[in-house]
Amino acid sequence: MRGLMQSWPLTVPSVIDHAARWHGEREMVTRTVEGAIHRTNYAELHERARKLAQALRRLGVGKGQVVGTLAWNTHRHFEAWYAIMGAGGVCHTLNPRLFAEQLVYIINHAEDRIILLDTSFVAILESIQTQLPNVAAYVLLTDRAHMPDTTLSNTLCYEELIAAEDGNCDWTPVDEDDACGLCYTSGTTGNPKGVVYSHRSNVIHGLAVNCADGIGARSVDNVLPIVPMFHANAWGLVFAGPMAGCKLVMPGARLDGENVCELLTGERVSVTAAVPTVWMMLLQYLEKTGATLPHLKRVIIGGSAVPRVMLEKFERDYGVEVVHAWGMTELSPVGTLASFKSGMENLSFDERMDIKVKQGRPIYSVEMKVTDDAGVDLPHDGKAFGHLLVRGPAIAGAYLKGEGGQILDEEGWFDTGDVATIDELGFMQITDRAKDVIKSGGEWISSIEIENLAVGHPQVQEAAVIGVAHPKWDERPLLIVVLAPGTTPTREEILAYLEGKIAKWWMPDDVAFVAEIPHTATGKIQKLTLRKQFETYKLPTA
Ligand code: ADP
Repeated sequence: MRGLMQSWPLTVPSVIDHAARWHGEREMVTRTVEGAIHRTNYAELHERARKLAQALRRLGVGKGQVVGTLAWNTHRHFEAWYAIMGAGGVCHTLNPRLFAEQLVYIINHAEDRIILLDTSFVAILESIQTQLPNVAAYVLLTDRAHMPDTTLSNTLCYEELIAAEDGNCDWTPVDEDDACGLCYTSGTTGNPKGVVYSHRSNVIHGLAVNCADGIGARSVDNVLPIVPMFHANAWGLVFAGPMAGCKLVMPGARLDGENVCELLTGERVSVTAAVPTVWMMLLQYLEKTGATLPHLKRVIIGGSAVPRVMLEKFERDYGVEVVHAWGMTELSPVGTLASFKSGMENLSFDERMDIKVKQGRPIYSVEMKVTDDAGVDLPHDGKAFGHLLVRGPAIAGAYLKGEGGQILDEEGWFDTGDVATIDELGFMQITDRAKDVIKSGGEWISSIEIENLAVGHPQVQEAAVIGVAHPKWDERPLLIVVLAPGTTPTREEILAYLEGKIAKWWMPDDVAFVAEIPHTATGKIQKLTLRKQFETYKLPTA
């Protein structure tokens, strides 16, 4: 027997329709790229997105056409996502932190027809426009008064495009499995690969990620998505926010401690989300100024592992609940969140932190397992670590244009490239990227765990651990450290700090002090570059 419910396609425009109709008065606050604070609401955002969809159609955007955006989190970027997807197009978010040649590659590979950009990114595109033959127009996300002088050809003014339309149109009818979003993974090896989101996957992920044990944002919440819309689908918040009808606070270009603190307090933000580096800057600012976080209830941290000291500072010093999250672009992007199960609230502080440093439990719509090298499932005992595999309706089944070939096994599992454990209660913990684990005497050492302990040392600002060739053990860990300004601890002092916190044979064989640790465009430590840099490093034990 078939179900007799209405067949209602899960499409992205239905999300903004819902927000406009039932939360039309709810605010969106933006720190604009120009600097001023701008206020609008879902009703206005809806109307302007429809006008922009009309304008985009006039510019030739139809079903399946790719439109790039190179922009910060602002009301205009939000409108652009809904307008592009609502016009049947595919919104391709470009990461301004990529190298010029990577941008050229992905803009051409994706066949972007139009690019919408913030005025702050004009110079980036000016320098590469001759290499972008397919781009017919550049739309500057600003008004006439702020249009910059530019050598970009075919520039259009965003506010003028909107002003010329009446908003009297329907969204372009689409199938829920049609493409609507495109985001390239940074591709530490080989070219970046395009992850293509569908209307259905975005709606399912938006619903799943905002469950009570997930981001848990309600209509009464004021949510600050610092995680950029130009990376990893903004963790689903651009969809989850309007679904819930919460106030969204868009931080624009200024993500330093002072500006983030000002928004958190001034806009009474209750829920926020970002990578650890952003929180490092905020915590340093709070310590320096003595400011507090009176309204903030929950902070979602992911993208890299949360160092325990960061977790403890938020929870103990500022009374803010940390929810550790793990995911990747291919997962829309959230896979797990570390919310407590029944009874865990009553554990001691240390025991609770032991749980929260783990990356957490899968949200509904994500299936997950760990396997050994032969593909055999490993037990959920919190000890056995192996390859982390996932599958589900908001997880990539292939990359754009078949790059990378077949990416699923016969049972539909996608290998995340991460190595992890899963414990008895289903909490997953990332040990490493498979290519970063340190293989010492046939056993694996987790670089992430040592790094996160090392940054607990008050004089260590940032730490990276890599494997360096060793004649007897194959590889041994080298701890690379950036010191806090004005401090001079010795190698021995830093190693002594780790003693007792990790197994003896995990102890780094040496400490190298550097001025800077290289990062990828998405803020992750560039282990590959470090490994090259220290390729010929002589360990004292070698
Ligand atoms: P990119 O690879 O383009 O930087 P992704 O955001 O897709 O972008 O990166 C996903 C990877 O980031 C994961 O496979 C994992 O290695 C790492 N990662 C994400 N969240 C966490 C976390 N909470 N702890 C440890 N690693 C994480």
